[in-house]
Amino acid sequence: MRAADIPGELTEILVTEEQILAKLEEIGARVAADYAGKDLLLVGVLKGAVMVMADFSRVLPVTVPMDWMAVSSYGAGTKSSGVVQIRKDLDTDLHDKHVLIVEDIIDSGLTLSWLLENFESRGAASIEVFALLRKPDAAKVEVDCKYVGFDIPNEFVVGYGLDYAECYRNLRDVAVLAPHVYA
Ligand code: 5GP
Ligand code: MG
Ligand code: MG
Repeated sequence: MRAADIPGELTEILVTEEQILAKLEEIGARVAADYAGKDLLLVGVLKGAVMVMADFSRVLPVTVPMDWMAVSSYGAGTKSSGVVQIRKDLDTDLHDKHVLIVEDIIDSGLTLSWLLENFESRGAASIEVFALLRKPDAAKVEVDCKYVGFDIPNEFVVGYGLDYAECYRNLRDVAVLAPHVYA
């Protein structure tokens, strides 16, 4: 469904499905060139990155293995706790792999900086990050993110994989959640 179908629950549509898909083509071409001839592994961070992983992996011109990691730093609220817990670890040995972490959004950066440190100890040949969205004004730690889809304002957004209390992930667009929904 489209964000425009539930205007009462959202205050603004920030990125449309069309804009997302065009951006994925662009980043997919960069990634394909950057990783030509290399042993690439996509690692999606559950659950938010499910949509971006599905669409991004399918614009790539080569088949790539995908693995998933589930971490939680948010609980049910709208602010990062900074405390990262592994809910599901990788199935893949990262040794000598060129890892591209696929993330929905970088907010405080706390989750990703923790993940990067965790992955660095596992012997990967390289580790880079692709985040569909980034909130520059929310950064608490700097994260070196090679591929960024869209920089967005510091507001709580939902859609295209991003949830509030597990809802809204199946919106095709990214939109700002109306404060009355979580107040
Ligand atoms: P960070 O550690 O960078 O603050 O963010 C951790 C995770 O919190 C993100 O990967 C994402 O799943 C979730 N998150 C951050 N900002 C938002 C947001 O605006 N909306 C939603 N739904 N989730 C967010
Ligand atoms: Mg995430
Ligand atoms: Mg969430």
